[in-house]
Amino acid sequence: MSVPLFEIRNVSKIYGPENTGLVALDNFSWTISQDDARIVTIAGESGSGKSTLGELILRSSRPTRGQILFQGVDIWTFNAAQKRDYFRQVQAVFQDPFGVYNPFYKFQHVFDMVVKNFKLSSSREHARVLIEDALNAVGLNGEEVLGKHPHQLSGGQRQRIMIARAIMLKPKFIVADEPVSMVDASLRASILDVMMKLRDDLGISFLYVTHDLSTAFQVGDDIILLYQGHVVEHGNAEDVISWPQHPYVQLLINSVPKPDPDQRWPGTVELPAEETLRAAGAAGCRFYERCPQRMDRCNSETPPLYDVGDNSHVAACFLYD
Ligand code: ADP
Ligand code: MG
Repeated sequence: MSVPLFEIRNVSKIYGPENTGLVALDNFSWTISQDDARIVTIAGESGSGKSTLGELILRSSRPTRGQILFQGVDIWTFNAAQKRDYFRQVQAVFQDPFGVYNPFYKFQHVFDMVVKNFKLSSSREHARVLIEDALNAVGLNGEEVLGKHPHQLSGGQRQRIMIARAIMLKPKFIVADEPVSMVDASLRASILDVMMKLRDDLGISFLYVTHDLSTAFQVGDDIILLYQGHVVEHGNAEDVISWPQHPYVQLLINSVPKPDPDQRWPGTVELPAEETLRAAGAAGCRFYERCPQRMDRCNSETPPLYDVGDNSHVAACFLYD
């Protein structure tokens, strides 16, 4: 086995003073292999730390504690050449791409700039082929979109253009933070299908961030559920859906209507915003207040991740101690 693509080691992000500030992400560890592309879903309520994880990976935020290694190298020790290479191999796709495009430019310009800035090609013909290939990979074609301005396309088309732009750089990894939350339900499936196709055809892994459980349970190979910055459960998506072990995840899954295979993603199952904030020093399970199965020790000790099944299925709950 080669060195992992990413190895995230005990990463915490605390906003404010280290002992009393707000813990956006607590002691998060995760490894993703280079050898087999996967879609890993990060799901949780609004404020649970999902975007924080994406920002840490994209180097727009620095861990308070812990390390993120990319192909064995700490991303905060990169020199200029390593940084350039990293931002080619690791791309981002965000929600509502409307705001990121200059309304005066046609999409042709957006793609020409990528070719120019990353020196992808020195010939016009070759550049045209690269752009067309990238658009085809997301189910679009140049004739239909390159001559258009941002307002002339739908949200779903803009989102696919954003993905096409990212894959021009032949990335290994894409952080997709709520990529479909601004898109009509009817178009959501097509974008999630694009992610699965890119995983299979181009070997791109995704960190798929969502607060919508109905998509979380259908697109991912693995799923990590966050609650107030803590991983509460992590495992193979099918295992977690079929045998949720953490009381919080059991409640969530019972609230999701069973998928109808003929009607994918008919609506959204939005997770409510988290009402209680947590401070860095606080001990005990973050779900204590809402847990139907709480025990005394849950109020004073923080549960570690316990093995609860096959394929590295783990849950942070003393029921499994
Ligand atoms: P999610 O993406 O799951 O909704 P975030 O990762 O954006 O959650 O935020 C996690 C927590 O960290 C939230 O309580 C949020 O208010 C806080 N937070 C995020 N960014 C900052 C920041 N720059 N400064 C202070 N607090 C922040
Ligand atoms: Mg977010």
